[in-house]
Amino acid sequence: MSKRVLIVGGVAGGASAAARLRRLDENIEIIMFERGGYISFANCGLPYYIGETIKERQNLLVQTEEGMEQRFNIDVRTHSEVTKIFRDTKEVEVVSNGKTYREKYDYLILSPGAAPFVPPIEGVNLDGIYTLRNMEDVDRIKEHVTKNKPNKAVVIGGGYVGIEMAENLKHIGVDVTLVEAADQVMGPLDFEMAKMIEKHMIDNGVNLIVGDAVERFEKNNGLEMTLKSGKKLNADMVIMAIGVRPEVKLAKEAGLEIGERGGIKVDAHMRTSDPYIYAVGDAIEVEDYINGTNTLIPLAGPANKQGRIAADNICGRESVYKGTQGTSIIKVFDLTAASTGNNEKILKRQGIPYIKSYTHSGSHAGYYPGAFPMTIKLLFSPEDGKILGAQIVGRDGVDKRIDVIATAIRAGMTVYDLEELELAYAPPYSSAKDPVNMAGFTAANILKGDMKIIHADELKNINPDEYFIVDVRTDVEFEGGHLEGAVNIPVDELRKRMNEIPKDKKIIVYCKIGLRGYIAYRILVQNGYDVYNLSGGYDLVLAYQMKYGEGLKLNDEMTRFEPMEEKKEVKPSGNTIKIDACGLQCPGPIMRVKTEIEKINEGDVLEVHVTDAGFTKDIKAWCERTGNTLIGVEKTCCDYVAYVMKGRKEKTNAQPVNVELPQGKTIVVFSGDLDKAIASFIIANGAAAMGRPVTMFFTFWGLNILRKDTAVKVNKTFIEKMFAKMMPRGSKKLALSKMNMGGIGAKMIRGIMKKKNIASLEELIEQAKANGVKLVACSMSMDVMGIKKEELIDGVEIGGVAAYLGEAEQSNVNLFI
Ligand SMILES: Cc1cc2nc3c(=O)[nH]c(=O)nc-3n(C[C@H](O)[C@H](O)[C@H](O)COP(=O)(O)OP(=O)(O)OC[C@H]3O[C@@H](n4cnc5c(N)ncnc54)[C@H](O)[C@@H]3O)c2cc1C
Repeated sequence: MSKRVLIVGGVAGGASAAARLRRLDENIEIIMFERGGYISFANCGLPYYIGETIKERQNLLVQTEEGMEQRFNIDVRTHSEVTKIFRDTKEVEVVSNGKTYREKYDYLILSPGAAPFVPPIEGVNLDGIYTLRNMEDVDRIKEHVTKNKPNKAVVIGGGYVGIEMAENLKHIGVDVTLVEAADQVMGPLDFEMAKMIEKHMIDNGVNLIVGDAVERFEKNNGLEMTLKSGKKLNADMVIMAIGVRPEVKLAKEAGLEIGERGGIKVDAHMRTSDPYIYAVGDAIEVEDYINGTNTLIPLAGPANKQGRIAADNICGRESVYKGTQGTSIIKVFDLTAASTGNNEKILKRQGIPYIKSYTHSGSHAGYYPGAFPMTIKLLFSPEDGKILGAQIVGRDGVDKRIDVIATAIRAGMTVYDLEELELAYAPPYSSAKDPVNMAGFTAANILKGDMKIIHADELKNINPDEYFIVDVRTDVEFEGGHLEGAVNIPVDELRKRMNEIPKDKKIIVYCKIGLRGYIAYRILVQNGYDVYNLSGGYDLVLAYQMKYGEGLKLNDEMTRFEPMEEKKEVKPSGNTIKIDACGLQCPGPIMRVKTEIEKINEGDVLEVHVTDAGFTKDIKAWCERTGNTLIGVEKTCCDYVAYVMKGRKEKTNAQPVNVELPQGKTIVVFSGDLDKAIASFIIANGAAAMGRPVTMFFTFWGLNILRKDTAVKVNKTFIEKMFAKMMPRGSKKLALSKMNMGGIGAKMIRGIMKKKNIASLEELIEQAKANGVKLVACSMSMDVMGIKKEELIDGVEIGGVAAYLGEAEQSNVNLFI
């Protein structure tokens, strides 16, 4: 005799189970009850219908009642709510259009899903406040939007549905505020990864409020919300999207076992505590594939698979569900965030040992247009490198990489396997070392002990006295923001300048993303240093920035968290020159701007196309420091565009007849005393940082500051040789003007400066050179004192008094030290 299977719920899990049952057995009698008016609709597509990306409502209806009946011979009953289960008689009670009746079953499949959680907040039932789960909800919201044309909306909750709704409402021109009670949006991501998403939402015009919650709704000029902080918000409509709760009322009342997390308990065959009742989808508790605990993971993929498994088992096919990994993905404007497995929060909570690594790789080969960086956070076991979870934020190709890692997790693979994976490569799609391989290499390096790392979130706990921090990025990047106390030694200068790094301290090296840091790490380690590479680099520190403020102090540039500079209306007086710096990473784009700006005239504009999102911040700082004008930054579908006008906008707006005041600074350095030399260079660097042209003119004793500290073979007369012997050879040999005490005073001053993280004289000299300060040695004094050009440090020009006077005339400050 054929079986009779009743199904409660006609969408993801329910419809999937029904279709599978029929495919396996033509003779089963299948009745599917759906409380709402539609079955098998695309709940995941609902926000995009509001945002008009999905234009036709019809397209949301993946399968209709008639279609399901025709193709699968299933008795579909919409507007039919199953209200009771009589387990003893194997019957259900159904309420439909005011009528109540019973149906018998051999097997019952429950797929009632999860309902949006609406907390009992004052005023939460006012008109204009919506939740989004099904077609009826989307119709209500669509009607509101079409009829009332709201200007302002507040979305409450920063999970998947909340973020998708925020984006889609922005898409149709609504001004959106998103309020999230936790300290981050997107729970499946860890804090620092979620911050990238938050920044992107802000950049796209969403007014984002995290760490605050709505306490009260009132009708007052539309809807007024009072937040816990006391802040008030106004809106024409509100979307409540603070999460879902499994619909278990029916199961609970029938006496079926409910798990600790509040979902229906099932075994691996999707069987509930009653062998004739199966349950699937958002309403059940699943086993976490990574840590084995019971959990709730409301996702469409698992619901569909579970429906299929329940059908298999009812039809006598042994089929087992092996747990949920939580592989998920979301589009946030033009960014994509995805995750699989356990995140760091879960691993911590479960007490599972883990190591984390970060990589920032291009989505495809940098030289092929349109490559975007993607950040991969990999979590793996310290024992054997088994992959425990991954999170990726980027643009193109995030979906592919998360799926590769999700598959690797299912296969029980380790980070060593990720190193070996042979993945498809051609320039438009990937790199010869795919981002997944790169994540594997980095993780394996850590595991094998080839690289010791320190994480951005650990910086605040370190004792600054024990560490010496080296920023191995270029000077331009360093100027754009850095860890306080860090010394800038670009990686390419590291071998030459290793003497500036103390051996008695632990060394932290960092760059923008960790790659140059790793190279610096290997150089220093092989030279006997105890080194830690800052994992994920400075970019990760920026992502964490909202958490900082204590411990190691970070400079202001980093702690600022602000939207992208909007494009201002500045009428450039010159030409616009387009530069394609897409695909360039790290300092590439900014170095390109530096080179190109030198070639153009004041008032000309560089239109710089980049794909590195970090550039939008770098360019602002760079313009401020270099006296150029950032007209603004725009985001297009495929890149960021910065408009940089050479020179200050005030200048181009000024009347052409106006005479500009000289802005240069000249310093005559006559003294060869250590303290005076330090003072001279501090002033010079300060002025250079303000974008002023600075010339330091070294004469007589001041020349000693510029001498190399090693003897150089040059032809000298006897007197010149004597003179050279008596004078200090280079900056390190200089004495204090007072209290020198045979050199003890000078040593003491250097020690104190180091402790207080003040740059040494040698560092100040390097900084001055890097900042473009002109160092001019007086040719006449060199002649008198017998100092030859070869004896001077690199980067010094030789000039006469005329050269100095020429510079002085262009200056409004002239110092004699
Ligand atoms: C707006 C939105 C966007 C989403 N986006 C994604 C996404 O991008 N990716 C993803 O993986 N997941 C997404 N999800 C989640 C995904 O839709 C769910 O995980 C999936 O639909 C769960 O399937 P289910 O069968 O358990 O429940 P549902 O699909 O919710 O179906 C349950 C059905 O049961 C009916 N029902 C309940 N009780 C009864 C009863 N007593 N009698 C009769 N009928 C009943 C309900 O009316 C409901 O239609 C999204 C969900 C929403 C709401």
